[in-house]
Amino acid sequence: AKRSGGSCALCYDTHMASGASADQLQLQQDLREALQRGELALHFQPKVSALGGTLHGVEALLRWRHPERGMISPAVFIPVAERFGLIGRIGDWVIEQACEQVASWQAQGLVCRVAINLSAHQLRQPDLARRILSTLERHGLEPSLLVCELTETAMMESIQDGCGVLDELDAAGVRVSIDDFGTGYSSLSYLRRLPASQLKIDRSMVIGVDVDRQARAVLESVVKLAHALDMEVVAEGVETEAQRQVLAEAGCDVLQGYLFARPMDAMALQDWVRGRPTTAAPVSSLSASSD
Ligand code: C2E
Ligand code: MG
Ligand code: MG
Ligand code: MG
Repeated sequence: AKRSGGSCALCYDTHMASGASADQLQLQQDLREALQRGELALHFQPKVSALGGTLHGVEALLRWRHPERGMISPAVFIPVAERFGLIGRIGDWVIEQACEQVASWQAQGLVCRVAINLSAHQLRQPDLARRILSTLERHGLEPSLLVCELTETAMMESIQDGCGVLDELDAAGVRVSIDDFGTGYSSLSYLRRLPASQLKIDRSMVIGVDVDRQARAVLESVVKLAHALDMEVVAEGVETEAQRQVLAEAGCDVLQGYLFARPMDAMALQDWVRGRPTTAAPVSSLSASSD
């Protein structure tokens, strides 16, 4: 990573020519400094079991508190990070922070699985799996405590590239999860080729399941298909009790959404967990649905 002003001026020209907006250029400039300045943080959103409502794990979601603009959504800055080649460093920071947090919770007696989001760009790093596994090891964590969430498109690209990162993670016991299922092409025949043990049904597929017979039919078939492929099913973006009920009846294993909890910082999450009826499942029962 070059730091000289000269090379940045060069970047500027190149990206201007490739059509980046002045706003994006400013953001990428700020993002370069955000890590060192401690402006990035992970928030954690619980996932609960559909039946008992016990904590199943948490998803780490990146937050950026910009000094002038306030909170900027990852939906805005992650694409900027990808475009300007910053996602590698930011992704590494996320992996490190997530592992550090889980190790710290574990030391306090809270055993909790954590999911991180990986972008397609990160999967192009051939040593990604090795680095993830060594980070887990350095923190004394079982690989089964980590879940990697990726969109279908990212997974398919990675498999076509043939770099084997996903297979390596899967073989080591890290869980791979298909994020935002139902927003891409959702090619059903491809589904069985993906080395994933979890499928996350996107919020867009959850909306309406309580009022629309057809939406419910789609949901039920996706759940059946995923189970037939030995995948655990998570529904995301659950906001209402009516949705929760239909999702549980349809056989979803795990639920996540504002109905249960919003993403929150690590301290708030600890408080949230303490207020629950039962704590996390013991490590021995963490392995994927082995029925
Ligand atoms: P995602 O992984 O699909 O995460 C779900 C998003 O839905 C999160 O938005 C979450 O805050 C939001 N959400 C959760 N429950 C509900 C609900 O009940 N209703 C509604 N309306 N929304 C809900 P967020 O945190 O803004 O993240 C947006 C996306 O940014 C994520 O989508 C993920 O693709 C990406 N992202 C976040 N953190 C990271 C990261 O560390 N690395 C990478 N590569 N991408 C990340
Ligand atoms: Mg996700
Ligand atoms: Mg998602
Ligand atoms: Mg999403």
